[in-house]
Amino acid sequence: MQYEAVIGLEVHAQLLTQSKAFCGCSTAYGAPPNTQVCPVCLGLPGALPVLNAEAVRLAVLTALSLSCAIAGESRFARKNYFYPDLPKGYQISQYDEPFSGRGHLDIEVDGQTKRAGITRVHMEEDAGKSVHLDPYSVVDLNRSGVPLVEIVGEPDLRSGAEAAEYLRTLREVLLFVGVNDGNLEEGSFRCDANVSVRPLGEAKLGTRVELKNINSFRFVEKAIAHEIQRQTALVDRGGRVVQETRGYNADLGTTYSLRSKEGAQDYRYFPDPDLPPLRLDEAFVERARASLPELPAEKRRRFVEGLGLTPYAARVLTAHPKIAAFFEQAAEQHGNATKVANFIQSEVLRGVHTHGLDARFPVGPSQVAALLGLVDAGTISGKQAKEVYADIEGTDRGPAEVVARLGMQQVTDTGAVEAICRRVIEQSPKQAEQLRAGNTKLLGYLVGQVMKESKGAANPQLVNDLLKKLLGLV
Ligand SMILES: [Zn+2]
Repeated sequence: MQYEAVIGLEVHAQLLTQSKAFCGCSTAYGAPPNTQVCPVCLGLPGALPVLNAEAVRLAVLTALSLSCAIAGESRFARKNYFYPDLPKGYQISQYDEPFSGRGHLDIEVDGQTKRAGITRVHMEEDAGKSVHLDPYSVVDLNRSGVPLVEIVGEPDLRSGAEAAEYLRTLREVLLFVGVNDGNLEEGSFRCDANVSVRPLGEAKLGTRVELKNINSFRFVEKAIAHEIQRQTALVDRGGRVVQETRGYNADLGTTYSLRSKEGAQDYRYFPDPDLPPLRLDEAFVERARASLPELPAEKRRRFVEGLGLTPYAARVLTAHPKIAAFFEQAAEQHGNATKVANFIQSEVLRGVHTHGLDARFPVGPSQVAALLGLVDAGTISGKQAKEVYADIEGTDRGPAEVVARLGMQQVTDTGAVEAICRRVIEQSPKQAEQLRAGNTKLLGYLVGQVMKESKGAANPQLVNDLLKKLLGLV
């Protein structure tokens, strides 16, 4: 029997607000435990939540970037459960009336575009963090009440690889829109995967297992692949999959049972009486829509179709919003997108460090544009440009100033270059003879020799012309 896997992902992404979802406490990461708390996010009796308008704006941007429809009115609900890091005894979330739904995300699978449905995007608050120290546990409530969006995907994915691609694409969209920093290690982008298997051709879904909180895309791919294998073997033997929540053991590469899965009825959802319905007027939604930046897929298409980059270069240069912005600025100042793209890929990217939405560059885009301008003007050669780059790296020095200081100049003095060309031809009589006989492929070899003799300073075009003249090829 042939089986097919059915995978749907739920992503929790932290919205990049300064303050929490329902109080004024800071959301800054890494502060000492329990220093960013107040009666609201500690769940003290009588404290009342007030919704953060910026969190709403970022949530709406998230939904719009996934082509979701926005509901004019939605409602916050209480999701009740007991856990030490949840002081109120309930989490404020959205349940049967979320603010958005029916969107999609296009992903690239084996060179083909696949459209994965988005069921809904809703707002909720984060819980605190339990830290387990042997033999006791402690709780840090700095994260309690931090605003999240939960992005619920349709069960449209069929393999671990597709799931990982979906997550990479989604993370990239959120980064480019600027609503989330995509930081898996710090827990600001978290994923749960619902996995089931069914006989191929069967429409009914099998019993699903939820894989919880896997903190790398590589592990998501492996965990899902393992879970598909486990369920397929089980069903194939005539067994039954149990609905449960499982974790992933990265060392063993296997999944293990955490607990039996709760159903919605276990949470006793009901509308939060402390919060009025959320009303989003059309003007607010349209303002948000108009402020959406260009998304990474569109940007890549424009880099290829508009600027003539290769698809590979377009992908490398859109790996991070700040890298894309750096490239665009340098390309605009210099004028030749391909030259700028090549130089950034071969030199600049080595020294770029990204963390969340931030990125540090070894030089500025104007330095790159100015440096390549010197090459275009024939002042220095491409090889010398790399030396100048090494000198300006980590500084704000202007390339022209460095060229002057190093006494660097491309040799365009015809007499000097011609002398080297003559010498090279003398030293390579065989190649010269074959060239005269019509084997023009060897010209590149002689040009290389002249460039070597001149230590890269000769103007390659001049060398080319002179060699041809001296060999009588023109
Ligand atoms: Zn607070």
